[in-house]
Amino acid sequence: MHRFLFKGKELHCESVPVSRIAKSVGTPFYLYSIQTFLDHFLKLKKAFASVEPLICFSMKANSNLTVLKALVNQGSGLDIVSGGELHKARKVGVDPKKIVFASVGKTETEIEEAVRCGILMFNVESSQELDVINKVAFRLKKIQKVAIRLNPDVKSGTHQYITTGTKQNKFGLDIGTVYKLFMESYRYPHLRLAGVHMHIGSQITNSKPFIEAIRKALAFIDSVRFSGNPVEYLNIGGGLGIIYSNEKPQSAQDFAEAILPLFKKYNLGKDLKLVLEPGRFVSGNSGILVTKVLYHKTTPTKLFVIVDGGMNDLIRPSFYGAHHEIVPIIKGRGKTVYRHVDVVGPICESGDFLAKDRKLAAVSEGDLLAVMSCGAYGSVMSSNYNSRPRVPEVVVKGGRFFIARRRENRDDLTRLERIVKEVV
Ligand SMILES: *Cc1c(COP(=O)(O)O)cnc(C)c1O
Repeated sequence: MHRFLFKGKELHCESVPVSRIAKSVGTPFYLYSIQTFLDHFLKLKKAFASVEPLICFSMKANSNLTVLKALVNQGSGLDIVSGGELHKARKVGVDPKKIVFASVGKTETEIEEAVRCGILMFNVESSQELDVINKVAFRLKKIQKVAIRLNPDVKSGTHQYITTGTKQNKFGLDIGTVYKLFMESYRYPHLRLAGVHMHIGSQITNSKPFIEAIRKALAFIDSVRFSGNPVEYLNIGGGLGIIYSNEKPQSAQDFAEAILPLFKKYNLGKDLKLVLEPGRFVSGNSGILVTKVLYHKTTPTKLFVIVDGGMNDLIRPSFYGAHHEIVPIIKGRGKTVYRHVDVVGPICESGDFLAKDRKLAAVSEGDLLAVMSCGAYGSVMSSNYNSRPRVPEVVVKGGRFFIARRRENRDDLTRLERIVKEVV
């Protein structure tokens, strides 16, 4: 469900025609429906209401400050993966006790900033990292809560680049090693080993891998508790899949109904607290990329539609082979339908495409296209490749639109550089 719908022939974002925004801000641009972010967040919150989980939006999926603030205002916490994300999280005034910090490579500086700020928990990925956090907490005279990231070795059935919970991946530690760390917690007097963390992958469309992973985690928690550590938190990560084309993902309600029975004997919400880290589920369908058709080009074997948005703006098709629906923002202009068209950007790479072999209503130069489901891992992954200014992020709430991040200009492209006279 999202709020990018046709009213008559025109695509709207909530109640604003997309064409009106394009006229004002130019193309390409990201367009977000704030209400869609909130709808998804609240669906999850409602589905799990009986156990009062901490829901930390995974801000690497979309770290636009306005989006974050809107979610934080609804009670969301934030899942961060860097010192830069900590900085942005603080800018939107999230309660530090609702911040969890994951990443396989946290630097000591990042760790210190986060301990000082008083975040709830680190999700720790190695014993060496435990040593560093312990050392920093000692220096700052604090006791820091941590969860250890368990790699449950389950297949999530998703793309290999977004699978994170099998033993071939760099993430987390195997059950034996995590058990050993819990048994040796006396080595870390400034840490409280308070939880178990997992994140098994992304765009997972059915609940089975989650069930399998949670079963393993709970059995593990039983064994650690048996040896005297109460373990307060189970963080089950993010990974809930969404609809890009014809996927049939579990709804928030389905997901809650599938996993909550596993916790029957745990007095969830009291003796064991659940943490969720949704990224894509909240943000994926809450944004689109609007791009303009520049040219058509027919070669002996192919038809290309060349648009002004490229892989530097949206890298998911090139990087993951991701599928994004593409629709003209005004319906029914072209009478014919292209059968096998490639929608490509202006970047000097053969890998620069937004869609391949796609069926698309015929478009003319100047027509605007909406690349759907770009709210997650879209703008955050954009770059200046080919010296292209990054595109703006526009937010809509109800009948109004605002620029939440302006388009970069020519000066922004050279702002950090100087010509080194000494060498030229
Ligand atoms: C990326 C990430 C998430 C969010 O993943 P989604 O698939 O977008 O829900 C959650 N937790 C961790 C640790 C992550 O790295």
